[in-house]
Amino acid sequence: MGRIRLERLGRRFGAVAAVDGMDLEIEHGDFLALLGPSGCGKTTLLRMIAGLLPPSEGRILVDGEDVTDLPPKRRDLAMVFQSYALYPHLTVASNIGFPLRIRRRPRAEVRERVAAVAAQLELGGLLDRRPKELSGGQRQRVALARALVRDPKAFLMDEPLSNLDAKLRTATRVELAALHRRLGSTFIYVTHDQVEAMTMATRIALINGGRLEQVGTPAEVYDQPESVFVAGFLGAPPMNLLSARVAAGDERVRVTAPGLDVPLWRGTTPEQEVVLGIRPEHLSFAALTEEPGERPLLRGVVRAVENLGSEEVAICDVGGTDVAVRGPRPLGVVAGEAVALTADPHRIHLFDEPTGRRLV
Ligand code: ATP
Repeated sequence: MGRIRLERLGRRFGAVAAVDGMDLEIEHGDFLALLGPSGCGKTTLLRMIAGLLPPSEGRILVDGEDVTDLPPKRRDLAMVFQSYALYPHLTVASNIGFPLRIRRRPRAEVRERVAAVAAQLELGGLLDRRPKELSGGQRQRVALARALVRDPKAFLMDEPLSNLDAKLRTATRVELAALHRRLGSTFIYVTHDQVEAMTMATRIALINGGRLEQVGTPAEVYDQPESVFVAGFLGAPPMNLLSARVAAGDERVRVTAPGLDVPLWRGTTPEQEVVLGIRPEHLSFAALTEEPGERPLLRGVVRAVENLGSEEVAICDVGGTDVAVRGPRPLGVVAGEAVALTADPHRIHLFDEPTGRRLV
């Protein structure tokens, strides 16, 4: 098993709360991505789970056992580092077998396990090489094999793909996800790359300033962001966020700001300051003659059109805020053109401005 539970886990460095009272339950077989901007506390959290850094407060439980005060080697968790931390003077086989040798496992068992894991990760032909004779991707696989050989309760990984070039990173992403499915073990994976998190993880924990913003499946955090932070972190380009105010109209409530008129189908308080969120792929161009009515309406001027290959992104100035529109190429607009934009009202997200939390 590999069920990990964090209870009010925190770590301070002087006045900085790098991790701030986190509660989190990681189920056996989860591929949990810890995702957030640089400095949000991801690595600190992972190092506490691994036992490499003592927490300032809280507890860590692995399969119900309190491991908070246990040293790393007694936690039965395997850490895969960004640098891979391979021993340069040892062969691939010796590197992979190292965790078993220090545990004084019989030689025959070590040989057998190394061969089995090497075959699983397609390293069979490289067992006599030294790390410097390997490519970045192969080194990464050796580091994984060394973690795998012990059959740990969970794998902890700190940005393991960041040293690979873009093409290899994509290939390794697919491999890692497949490996996770095959093993069925728990993976905890630190990354600041939303694509890695979205494509590999079964659940994503979004972290901001040492605190959990939201935990959910990739679809949940993308489709139903619980806060302005999550909404603005995910997506490329990320969700458009527009400050507006709730105004009670003649017949129904509307959210308005310069260049913006959105009829509301769900309740808020009049005069409330809100943030309206619309993903670039959910906006489409409307007729310039359209009047504010039943559909959300944004009016602006195209500032630039970016060609992404199969798609285009138009950046439009709506009342002084940049709004991105993404769709198949060509979008059919040019810089300087006045445009009207609309969206399916159900695709619009509403957040409370002061707290940044989702309203509906
Ligand atoms: P990155 O993606 O850049 O690695 P991260 O999300 O992993 O960032 P952490 O490395 O966990 O972030 O750092 C969280 C906060 O704690 C940062 O403000 C960092 O400066 C601080 N911090 C981390 N380690 C130490 C330390 N040993 N001493 C003092 N402050 C630290």
